[in-house]
Amino acid sequence: MKTVGFIGLGVMGFPMAGHISKAFPTQVYNRTLSKAEDWAELYSGSIALSPKEMGTSCEEIFLCVGNDDDVKEVIAGDEGLLSSLKSGSIIVDHTTTSATLSREMSNMCIDKGVNYLDAPVSGGQAGAENAALTIMAGGDKDSYEKVCETMGHYSKFSKLMGSSGSGQLTKMVNQICIAGLVQGLAEGINFSLKSQLDISDVIEVISKGAAQSWQMENRWETMSLDQYDHGFAVDHMRKDLKIALEEAQKQGASLEITKLIDGYYKDIQDMGGKRWDTSSLLKRLQNND
Ligand code: NAP
Repeated sequence: MKTVGFIGLGVMGFPMAGHISKAFPTQVYNRTLSKAEDWAELYSGSIALSPKEMGTSCEEIFLCVGNDDDVKEVIAGDEGLLSSLKSGSIIVDHTTTSATLSREMSNMCIDKGVNYLDAPVSGGQAGAENAALTIMAGGDKDSYEKVCETMGHYSKFSKLMGSSGSGQLTKMVNQICIAGLVQGLAEGINFSLKSQLDISDVIEVISKGAAQSWQMENRWETMSLDQYDHGFAVDHMRKDLKIALEEAQKQGASLEITKLIDGYYKDIQDMGGKRWDTSSLLKRLQNND
């Protein structure tokens, strides 16, 4: 049976690799070794000490690291995957990165006979833990079809969107749609609290109507309890919005609200909330009121 490799055991990667380990022999690698050790205590699998080492034992490797530079280091660094992977191997990158990086990595991989798919995910920490992620992929169809079985162990839906970079472009649309929506939810909750309405009654009613959203369903309660430890960090959101804003500039697409909300997230970083989750837009509002 094939051994599947997984690199990046953060909020998302830790449970994703866990689901894979229940179906296939699995090897993991993480920059901070202790996280890999914690993972191996909970799940069955081996630990690689570098991406290069993993490349000698796995031909299907999944990444979920932080940003463009992390992906570059894992794939093309001195101890990177491309220094050891066999021709015909497949790298699936679940990190949210720029589309430019995806195309660059894809070309670099093709030169070595390796296939690369950009495959960012949506669904948050809960989606990763409950094997309910949505995957939007870009790249070669044959490679995509080969990895669908493995991805099925931690996702509820996946789709190949087109050539290399298309997955990341789709993820940008996802983040653009979320940014303004979370601010709207924060304003709605803040308004309800100031108006002395019972917030759970308000949500019960409006979530049955046109205002309903995933963010409302999954975040209203923790937001109103001032809890902001639910996975998708403000630092990551700012990275994603920067990527979207830069891409939009290239495309000539206006992102008015997205730009505004990016500035709000900067305020949150300045408040000390780099690792708070993205629903902390409510905390910013309450801080300003
Ligand atoms: P995270 O908790 O910060 O985890 C990132 C993991 O990658 C960390 O364990 C980190 O290792 C590891 N890593 C980073 N650079 C590495 C490198 N060069 N070599 C090996 N390991 C490396 O992030 P996350 O929340 O899981 O998110 C991961 C990616 O998924 C991001 O691109 C994010 O935008 C995207 N995403 C996240 C969510 C979410 O809800 N969290 C949802 C959708 C998409 P260390 O332990 O050394 O830091």
